[in-house]
Amino acid sequence: MASKRSVENDDKEEPEAKKGFWAMGLVQAIKDPESIVEEDDQVVVIKDKYPKAEHHFLVLPKEEITNINKLKRDHVPLLQHMQSVGEKVAKRYPRYSFRLGYHSIASMFRLHLHVISDDFVSPALKYKKHWNSFHTSFFIPSEDLIAFVEKNGYAKQITQQKAKELMNTPLKCHKCSEKLKDIPKLKEHLLTHISKDEK
Ligand code: AMP
Ligand code: ZN
Repeated sequence: MASKRSVENDDKEEPEAKKGFWAMGLVQAIKDPESIVEEDDQVVVIKDKYPKAEHHFLVLPKEEITNINKLKRDHVPLLQHMQSVGEKVAKRYPRYSFRLGYHSIASMFRLHLHVISDDFVSPALKYKKHWNSFHTSFFIPSEDLIAFVEKNGYAKQITQQKAKELMNTPLKCHKCSEKLKDIPKLKEHLLTHISKDEK
């Protein structure tokens, strides 16, 4: 079976067109008028199909940039534009705070910026790795990635070993730092913040 993991590890110099079918889902979605939320000459915004929070969007460049490994200093204006388009979409939901950033190792092809509300309340948030992919250093805030690329002229994915360690980080609430023993307990706990903070 061509697993998600094997695709993740396999990003050498292959063009997007040769990638596995599943991993090309975002590239298909940006061509589908039904999934497009926003579009301009440089980027497309789509709704995440498996949202990990109340509001979860992805901003993708039209340029075929496979992932953060392919970034060069020339891409900085595009990365800045992706961020400002993401911020514009987030502003439509003034009652929510949003996080904008990239996963250190993406599972899907074409570079994508996550624009996600910080409630993290969603049926699609099911596994520890879902949580830790947004709440450890696996998640690179957009401004940090831009600053790194601007300074160094590249961005680099972390090793698989490091990613595995980060995914095993004990679960901790991002709002009050309480430690939770499993995902069901964490999800229950997150609801207490919704009622406390938003009612
Ligand atoms: P990443 O781990 O950064 O590659 O995240 C990929 C994101 O794409 C995840 O948040 C998935 O829920 C989302 N996703 C997967 N398939 C699709 C699809 N066909 N259309 C829209 N979003 C998708
Ligand atoms: Zn908490």
